[in-house]
Amino acid sequence: MANNITLTIVKPGAYRKGHIGPILNMINEAGFRIIAMKLIKLSTRQAEEFYAIHRSKPFYESLVEFMSSGPIVAAILQKENAVEDYRKLIGATNPENAEEGTIRKKYAQSLEMNAVHGSDSNENAELEADFFFAKSERTDCM
Ligand code: ADP
Ligand code: MG
Repeated sequence: MANNITLTIVKPGAYRKGHIGPILNMINEAGFRIIAMKLIKLSTRQAEEFYAIHRSKPFYESLVEFMSSGPIVAAILQKENAVEDYRKLIGATNPENAEEGTIRKKYAQSLEMNAVHGSDSNENAELEADFFFAKSERTDCM
């Protein structure tokens, strides 16, 4: 499978704090090309579906509520080794463990409100890209 895209979400907390611009700037500076992007608000059902893999976790309900609590920015990022390189750029899930200079270190408010999502595998990057974008909304498919 191709290894050149990943899916990111700038989460509602970062949107509310006005961090969309600075986060997109970090993404650009790190050499990722934005090939699709939209500002939307997820419904409860959409957030449940996106995070279905975490359904059995104790934080699931709260996570779904948070992710559907306000606008998000979803984007497909393109770069060689995109998934791995983007996970490095965003830092650890828990911002307390995130390295200096990472997006989560700079912009996370808490473990749940950790500023951004990043795909965890090439397979999930493709599934998540399809979750948010029609082929006609992807500049790599135009
Ligand atoms: P990541 O986003 O780094 O891939 P996970 O897939 O494990 O992390 O979790 C998805 C999201 O759920 C996290 O980004 C975070 O917002 C939230 N989350 C994960 N673990 C916890 C937890 N223990 N308590 C509260 N929220 C959590
Ligand atoms: Mg994950």
